[in-house]
Amino acid sequence: MTIYYASLFFILGICLGSFFNVLIYRIPKNERFINGRSYCPKCETKLSALDLIPIFSYLALRGKCRYCSIKISIRYPLIELLTGLLFLASFVYFDLSFELIRSLVFISLLIIITFIDLDHMIIPHSLTIFGIAFFFSWHLFFNIGQLPTYVLGLIIGFFSLAIFVFFGAMGGGDAMLAAMFGMYFGISRTFVTLMLSFIIGGVFSIIVLLLRKRSRKEKVPFGPFLTLSALLMLFFDYFFLAFYGLQ
Ligand SMILES: [Zn+2]
Repeated sequence: MTIYYASLFFILGICLGSFFNVLIYRIPKNERFINGRSYCPKCETKLSALDLIPIFSYLALRGKCRYCSIKISIRYPLIELLTGLLFLASFVYFDLSFELIRSLVFISLLIIITFIDLDHMIIPHSLTIFGIAFFFSWHLFFNIGQLPTYVLGLIIGFFSLAIFVFFGAMGGGDAMLAAMFGMYFGISRTFVTLMLSFIIGGVFSIIVLLLRKRSRKEKVPFGPFLTLSALLMLFFDYFFLAFYGLQ
């Protein structure tokens, strides 16, 4: 039975990942993403149902558009696979529970936000505000006694990064993402997540400077470091909380 559910969540993940690819492409362009079939960005041919099967259509077409043969980025199937694997990991970690549903919403938002940030150096407020509202309502319905912890987490998350936004080192979207972490994780987990993001971001910057692949002035989005830390916190929370003596 476990195998059955595990495959179910993996398949759900790759299908949703395919939808996230559309959102990542369309949200920054303010295109309508609910209506309208997916189309090839080059020849603008509407894709058939066959072209929309995640991962397999990419493999079957050998990474090329069926109509104009333009190369399709390998990122599309990789995002589908990543979503599938993270959904599977979430099922393994949380089993069938309310917590599983909450984590799947969180993971979905993280994937969409991170790849938009990598492409455009922005984190749309619509996504973080949706996340904050969703998790706030969640606590309101299922966990009202703990609500103050999460509201405080949101405030601490936001203002921890707002300092960096003030000095121009980060964007307002990063602070909003940290606020969303606060609403999802509560105070101590948010604190550790932000610490981790500074460590990972710092190590990355040092390596890049040593390799001199980018000039010092070129900006690196901070969202991916925040996301990576949040995923580590999601699945290895006991390890990291113990490390900081918070549990
Ligand atoms: Zn095409």
